[in-house]
Amino acid sequence: MAVQEHTGWERKNSMNKIAILDAATQSVQYQDDDGTEYGRGLAVKLLKQYMADNVFVITPGLLTGTPVPCATRATIVGKSKEEREICVSNISGDFPQKLASMHLSGIVIKGSCKDKNTIIHIEEQKISFLDFPELQGKSCKEMVSYIREKWGRECAIIGRGPASDHYYPISSLFVTYPYGKPEYSCPRSSTGAGLAKIGIRAIVLERNQYFRGACENREGLQSSGKRLAKYILDDPICGGALPGLGSITLLHLLKNEKNLEELLQEKRKEEKAEIEKSGERINYCCAPMCVIGCLNRHSKGNGNIYSSPEESEIKAAIEQCFAQDMEKEQLESCTTYLSQKGMESGLNMIELVVAMRLYFDAEKEKPSLEQILQLVREVEAATVLGRVLAGGTRRVCEVFSDETQIQGRVTKKAVTKERDYQLKIDLELLYQEIFLFENLGICIFSSFALLNKEEPLRLLAELYKDKTGREITVEEMLQYSAQCLKQEEELWKELNIGNNIKAIPEFVKVLYNYFENTKN
Ligand code: SF4
Repeated sequence: MAVQEHTGWERKNSMNKIAILDAATQSVQYQDDDGTEYGRGLAVKLLKQYMADNVFVITPGLLTGTPVPCATRATIVGKSKEEREICVSNISGDFPQKLASMHLSGIVIKGSCKDKNTIIHIEEQKISFLDFPELQGKSCKEMVSYIREKWGRECAIIGRGPASDHYYPISSLFVTYPYGKPEYSCPRSSTGAGLAKIGIRAIVLERNQYFRGACENREGLQSSGKRLAKYILDDPICGGALPGLGSITLLHLLKNEKNLEELLQEKRKEEKAEIEKSGERINYCCAPMCVIGCLNRHSKGNGNIYSSPEESEIKAAIEQCFAQDMEKEQLESCTTYLSQKGMESGLNMIELVVAMRLYFDAEKEKPSLEQILQLVREVEAATVLGRVLAGGTRRVCEVFSDETQIQGRVTKKAVTKERDYQLKIDLELLYQEIFLFENLGICIFSSFALLNKEEPLRLLAELYKDKTGREITVEEMLQYSAQCLKQEEELWKELNIGNNIKAIPEFVKVLYNYFENTKN
């Protein structure tokens, strides 16, 4: 086993470091971070600085790693040297808070390793590069178990599954939750291919502190944080943990407020029953300090519960694509099987479901459960057909370019629908507030309680001051968000990517609906 170790940064009260890791030379450098750029804004700035090579950047939000409710998130951005595309993802789990608690406001990994199964292991003031060839071919679940057996069940992991070994565009990362069930998620906004090109299998944080991030006024953070928590809990959608239903179902519910109230009543009864029934240690939150808790919350109506919003979304996508071809029981089996496969391989299963539907339409075949399972096996075995499907709807449409009935059905980013809505909030302001959340590390699922609301936004400015010691107004925080949006717009233009479509989280489609249908 090749081992490269580096000792380096010292934790101080308020000054953070950024670690720059060179995968080619397996060396580490540290730079001081003065805190003027943070969260998503800092991630993109670092990406620009290092993108002459393969680059992968992780930055926790400014408030992540402090006792602020729902401040659980980190931004990941990545770009391969030979491609123009940039992947922007927002993750939660136990990694972001633990990273911030190490007083690291960013990790940059650049270059490329010779080996493809290198683990970057980070512990107090020490970063090591370790080779684990035995991880080749293992599922995400097996890797999480292997790593937690080696370094303890409290270690936090960001890694990539076997699907990323083929550089599939729809491969995703896996990110762990605190020890419990579910153990990890595969965020569908992420891509595992970028990390695969660098040759890194996983990044492991061996630390068991969540809230030791640098801050100037911890008591102030706790006190303002409690007031913020009240706003979130008092909101019917956030307080009812409804984001766990997944955005497709939430969209339907928002269109019918009566359904929403009925669902809240039902859910309260079900939740009590499930808690009483379960003897296992289950995760309701993907990270501590989340006061919403959208995991293991919602009944499938058959005595089981959805472990995460992703599982609910896969079910909704399967129903949309295959309800006319299969019986209810088959749809349920299909959902269970595909959810499990997506989690094992590290795949964006929702995009694969839609790509399979396009393939059946292009081939003019009626789908069956057995055929769907066969297509998933093709993807796993990386056959030619599997590789086409793993390129997502775009690749299927390209390969079947003569099949006019499927053209125009490439999955479009939610943000391209912005002009379809008459919103009660200015679009630019909506995006600035979303960026504000991402810069601070606040989960977007708390939007219903916080977004476009004067007092909660003012509390965020207070929390900024408690964290940094610097006064700031809401307007100034939004100006920084506007600056971050502009930075990305210019970068997208420079690289000529994606018709300059803003990288706004897909959840925005729920917010378009929310702001169209409520009196906010
Ligand atoms: S609302 Fe859900 S996704 Fe957001 S931090 Fe809480 S548990 Fe995680």
